[in-house]
Amino acid sequence: MPASNSHSLPRIRVLATGGTIAGAQTGGSRGYQAAAFSIDALIGAVPQLATLARLEVEQVAALGSQDMNESVWLKLAERTAAALAEPDLAAVVITHGTDTMEETGYFLNLVVRSRKPVVLVGAMRPATEISADGPMNLYNAVAVAAHPEASGRGVLVVANDEIHFAREVSKTNTTQVGTFKATDRGLAGLVHAGRLHLYASPVRRHTAESEFDVAAGSTLPRVEIVYAYAGMGRELIDAAVRAGAKGLVVAGVGDGNVNATALAACAAATRSGVAVVRSSRTGGGVVERNIEVNDDELGFIAADELNPQKSRVLLMLGLQRTSDPAALQEMFFRY
Ligand code: GLU
Repeated sequence: MPASNSHSLPRIRVLATGGTIAGAQTGGSRGYQAAAFSIDALIGAVPQLATLARLEVEQVAALGSQDMNESVWLKLAERTAAALAEPDLAAVVITHGTDTMEETGYFLNLVVRSRKPVVLVGAMRPATEISADGPMNLYNAVAVAAHPEASGRGVLVVANDEIHFAREVSKTNTTQVGTFKATDRGLAGLVHAGRLHLYASPVRRHTAESEFDVAAGSTLPRVEIVYAYAGMGRELIDAAVRAGAKGLVVAGVGDGNVNATALAACAAATRSGVAVVRSSRTGGGVVERNIEVNDDELGFIAADELNPQKSRVLLMLGLQRTSDPAALQEMFFRY
């Protein structure tokens, strides 16, 4: 569905998945339903988009992103790659709920083998809310995707006038429009009513240089996350192993720690061939090897800078290639 007749503008495909950006209030002052509007309706509400790009749309899914899953990720990766393989298509913009946007973004950052821009965009307020943030976020996302300097930067997330690297960004607030933060490494840039200010380059390997890909028919191995807390037991770790998990991420306290009981369960998991990653529930910082836990002896992998949910994404892709903890550890240092 071309939105402009100007052939000098870049051709951009918008892949829609739902989310609050497409949400409608349901009557009460707070209640709303995600993914109520089609992508055509969202684009139709922002006629200024026609000054930025020739847009075409594809509705890949229509869900609140709490319902995002591996099979939609695989489909989205395939549709993104197919779009970017078209020589005269400049970029892809993906509309997505904010709850799990960081996981989808990081997944695509690892499997989409292209230097062309891929920009995820969402909103915190539904499309029918007072001062909805979706229309400006969408306008800014298309402006970023259309900009030549956005290429080669990995998958980006645009919201609230900010440009983030998918690897670095996290949702940090349940309701505020400024929910996205990149605590450790900061912004990729800013975008004000379509005007870009790019600051930084990505620090780790991504997209075109990635070793990962997902061919048609791929499946991802089961990887569970277990959250640590004072006084935790071992039952959930043992249950994950019994349920057939090939990998386990602990959202550890502090520097990826768990208590002695849980540590024994994690060590038993590695002995039975499960890859165990120590990540942190703190929301920032690096989990280093061999500080309070002897990772070398116990066969654990330190998450380095990745939060638990992104550690899970990398571990799923890593386990498709190897189950060797040393090789998996190198991936956590490289991506
Ligand atoms: N649960 C919704 C989602 O992730 C709300 C968050 C949003 O989109 O802002 O789709």
